[in-house]
Amino acid sequence: MAKKTIEDIDLKGKKAVIRVDFNVPLQGGKITDNTRILGALPTIKHVIEQGGTAILLSHLGRPKGQVNPKFSLAPVAKALADELGQPVVFIPESRGEAAEKAVSELSAGSVALMENVRFHEGEEKNDPELAKDFAKLGDVFINDAFGTAHRAHASTAGIASFLKPAVAGFLIQSELEYLGEKTESAESPFVVILGGAKVSDKITVIDRLLDKADTILIGGAMAYTFALANGKTVGDSLAEPKFIETAKAAMKKAKEKGVKFMLPVDNVTVDSLDFDNMSVGNIGASDESGNIPDGWEGVDIGPKTAALYAAELAGAKTILMNGPMGIFEIEACAKGSFAIAEAVAKNQDAISIIGGGDSVKAVKQAGFGDQVSFISTGGGASLEFLEGKSLPGVAALEEK
Ligand code: AMP
Repeated sequence: MAKKTIEDIDLKGKKAVIRVDFNVPLQGGKITDNTRILGALPTIKHVIEQGGTAILLSHLGRPKGQVNPKFSLAPVAKALADELGQPVVFIPESRGEAAEKAVSELSAGSVALMENVRFHEGEEKNDPELAKDFAKLGDVFINDAFGTAHRAHASTAGIASFLKPAVAGFLIQSELEYLGEKTESAESPFVVILGGAKVSDKITVIDRLLDKADTILIGGAMAYTFALANGKTVGDSLAEPKFIETAKAAMKKAKEKGVKFMLPVDNVTVDSLDFDNMSVGNIGASDESGNIPDGWEGVDIGPKTAALYAAELAGAKTILMNGPMGIFEIEACAKGSFAIAEAVAKNQDAISIIGGGDSVKAVKQAGFGDQVSFISTGGGASLEFLEGKSLPGVAALEEK
C-alpha cells in the first residue's frame, strides 16, 4: 500500500513539522560528513517553495534524555544554512511555550531547526505527551528520517497520531520505492550480494530474498558459516557454528527455489590482524578446495571469486547489495569489496541498489558512489525493511 507523500498535500501557508535525520558525525564540533544534511534538502526546499514554513526535528547522538551541549544541533543549523543558501533559525528547545512562540513568529518560506529531540526522555519512549507537544509546532507532519524509521519514537511515530496530514518526504519516498517496490517486483535477472559479519544478523534477509532473487552471491565472514555447513575448514575465521543448520536450510531452500546460490571459491587469509591499527600480518589464501588452515583467518573473497561474482553482476537487470565482502576497512582486506563495487557500477543497464550500512561505505570508499542507482540512507532501518518488517515511522503515515 502506498503512503501519502509531500506531493499529495497543500503546503501553502502551512507550518510543516519535518522529522529529518541530522544525526551527522561530529568531530570537535565540526561536521565530518554532511550526506544526511544534503539528503534532506529536496524535502525542505519543496516545503518553502510551496509557500510553507519548515520546522525541523532531529536527534543527534545518544544524549539519553538529558540536555547535553555536546549533542546540540546548533552546528548543524549553520551547515544547513550554508547548503540552503538562506538563514536557518536555530530554536534551542523542541517543546513547550518558548518553542511554540518562536515557531509562531516564523514567516512563510523560512526554515527553523529545533534542538535535539533526544534531550527529552520521552523521545525514545514514544511518550504521547511529548508527541502531542511536537505536534503543536505545526499544521502538517512530514517524516523524512528513514534512518530512524525503524524506531517508534515520539518524533518519528507518536507525533503522527496528533498531527495530520502525516506524510512521507522525498527521501522516505525514494527509500520505499527502491528498497520496496523495485526489489519486490525486480526485473530479472535479480542478483543479490550479501556480505558482512554474521549469518545470524542476515538470515531473515537471506530467507526473504530467496523468494525473489535469481542469484545470491555470498561474501564476508558470513561465508564461513556456509563453508562449515559444506564441511570445509575455516581456521580462525569469524564463523557461527551454531548457525550451521540455518545455513544448510538456506542452501536447501535455494535449491528448491532454483536460486543460484554462490559461495566464495577462494579467500584472502591473514595470520594476524590488528583492527585498531588497521594492519595485518602475513597474507595467504585458502587452498584449492577453499579450506582455511588453523592459525589463519579469512578476511576477504579471493580474486577468482571476485571474477565469478563480477560475471554474474554483468548480466543482471536488478542488483541489491547489502554487506561488504571482507574487512574492507583495512586496505589489505578491501580488494574483494572494491572489485564487487566496481562490477556493480559497471553495469549501467541494471537498477543497482546499495542496501545501507557498511556496503554504502565500501561503495563510496571504492569511488563508485555516484555510479549506482540508489544508495540507502538507513543502516538498521534498511535491513529491517529488506527483512519485510514494518517500520513504525513509515507505518504511522497515512495511506494514499
Ligand atoms: P554487517 O554490519 O553485518 O554488514 O557487517 C559489516 C562488517 O563485517 C564490517 O565491519 C566488516 O569489517 C565485517 N566483515 C566482513 N568480512 C569479514 C570477515 N571475513 N571477517 C570479519 N569481519 C568481516
